Amino acid sequence: MQTPEPYQPASIFTPQAGDGAATPRVLIAPQRYIQGPGVIDNIGRYLTLVNVRRVAILISDRGRASEGPRLLSSLESENMEAVLCRFGGETSVEEIELHQAELDGRVDCLLAVGGGKCVDAGKSIAFRLGIPVVIVPTLASNDAPCSAASVLYSPSGVYSHFEFFPQSPALVVVDTGIVAAAPERYLAAGMGDAMATWYEAQACLKNPNGINVLFARPTLASTAMGEICARTLFEHGVAAATAVRSRNVDASLEAVVEANTLLSGLGFESGGVAVAHGVAQTCTSLPGIPERYHHGEMVAIGTLVQLALEERRDETAKVARFFAHVGLPAHLGQLSVDTSDTAAMDTLVEGTLDWPFTVNMPFDVDASMLRRALLEVQEIGASVASEVGDTAYRRLQDG
Ligand SMILES: [Zn+2]
Repeated sequence: MQTPEPYQPASIFTPQAGDGAATPRVLIAPQRYIQGPGVIDNIGRYLTLVNVRRVAILISDRGRASEGPRLLSSLESENMEAVLCRFGGETSVEEIELHQAELDGRVDCLLAVGGGKCVDAGKSIAFRLGIPVVIVPTLASNDAPCSAASVLYSPSGVYSHFEFFPQSPALVVVDTGIVAAAPERYLAAGMGDAMATWYEAQACLKNPNGINVLFARPTLASTAMGEICARTLFEHGVAAATAVRSRNVDASLEAVVEANTLLSGLGFESGGVAVAHGVAQTCTSLPGIPERYHHGEMVAIGTLVQLALEERRDETAKVARFFAHVGLPAHLGQLSVDTSDTAAMDTLVEGTLDWPFTVNMPFDVDASMLRRALLEVQEIGASVASEVGDTAYRRLQDG
């Protein structure tokens, strides 16, 4: 079993000494993005585009019971063989290497079927095996499916590091019927993750030295995706959440699933990330938080912190109001962070300053500015929450 050298996009896209070039604009994307109710039943047909015969399916026990039979019957109808592998739940090096050893030399494609953690683990395993990865998200809770990067965590869920891959997923197949049947909290978390996209892309574009996740300059196209992503959420977010409550696939749900998965995914990777994701990743090191909250819920708070840092009070309140309406945390208290807890505040400030993409902000960020922004989010968010009420937040957290 041979593990390839880690791939660093900077080694490809960052101008080398002496070549005199400016940092280029780079956009990457999966080869195909397919979304609609029932598309999972055609997975075998779509896979004929990738030219494979033996397919590993990385899936949890729950997913195996619910989506397994449909996947297997579609693969069988195209005479493809399937090897099922049980996803244990965490995107850790331990889990990834276990599956790498199990699958080495046995398959020519890997299908990752599940939420963000399974999707990211699938990308890392496929990279180590040197085979294409196909992503079948069963939740619209995160922006992981479309990117050529994974976020790795310790076995207990604390953020560890990024892994990058030279290839984007060959296919991303999102069955909106499956997404609509998942608990509403997942869709809301995806909206929290997606809302950051536009604000982070703006920061990277404004900063002449801002770089995207490929260590290249953002394109106008990726920034435009971030903008339409935010606009779609404001327009359809509440209606999409209502659709999921009645397990109904309607136009609003289709729009929000595309925003959460495609627009947010391409937008963050090629448009760039900044303080919003820095705060979110740092939240995973606060005791009790990674077990209780989703990535997108932490990104929601991170987005508010970034807006407060930019001194955009009105926009902070507007976004916090949207979060309160769809049941996302609108202030730090709703993420179980007590702003009078000095140790927690110090961790948040220091972790965000250490985050490699905080430098994408179009101004220098220091500890006192971050501290002020965190307190301001608490103040603005709490006032919004008392105005809107916490019915939606409670419903999702207690449900
Ligand atoms: Zn994210």
